[in-house]
Amino acid sequence: MRLDRLLANLPHSNRRDARLALAAGRVRVDGATVRDGLLEIREFHRVELDAELLQAGKPARYFMLHKPAGVVSATEHPEHRTVLELLDEPDRHELHLAGRLDLTTTGLLLITNDGHWSRRLTLPQSEKPKVYYVETEQAIDAEYVETFARGLYFAYEDITTRPAALEILGSHSARLTLLEGRYHQVKRMFGHFRNRVLRLHRERVGALELGDLPEGSYRALSAGEIAAF
Ligand code: URA
Repeated sequence: MRLDRLLANLPHSNRRDARLALAAGRVRVDGATVRDGLLEIREFHRVELDAELLQAGKPARYFMLHKPAGVVSATEHPEHRTVLELLDEPDRHELHLAGRLDLTTTGLLLITNDGHWSRRLTLPQSEKPKVYYVETEQAIDAEYVETFARGLYFAYEDITTRPAALEILGSHSARLTLLEGRYHQVKRMFGHFRNRVLRLHRERVGALELGDLPEGSYRALSAGEIAAF
């Protein structure tokens, strides 16, 4: 909600009172005086009017998790354990996933209670490179590199995938960098060559790297990591 509306909605207040309070420098957001009533106030902001606390602001939470295979990327599931169940956090029910991985895929998953942050992550114009380690049933050859770099047509969505970088690591293994996250994208790209993905592991999203975080474990992102997104 906008700051001027929040102030005007207070008991015994109106739009004029809100304007005057802002102009007089009586309003603080996260400890700093704010005079701009258009400022969008979120649940994470602390808002004060003189000495009165109008909103305490709840902490914004950002985690990276090393998802194991067999755990589902969902907040609830009738059959499988969910990734949220791996978190030992009191406010776990308020968290959601910023992106998903298939049931059998392992690796880096981002979890937050900040809807703006997770939405921004998935906007086409701000999408971060996602790096996957892939093992396949059939051998991978140089033709894959060119085809993935050119982009593949996905009839269902009627789109051509954005140029993707494939680094061949061995006869049956590679590292693939995508700039988008279409449904089953990696498997469908290898499926173009009738090559089945046997192992898929996300190592990195943007500057965030899983590193040596053990499978099934998670950690909070640092302030620097959050800001870099
Ligand atoms: N591409 C896939 O096919 N599966 C994933 O889990 C992620 C990307």
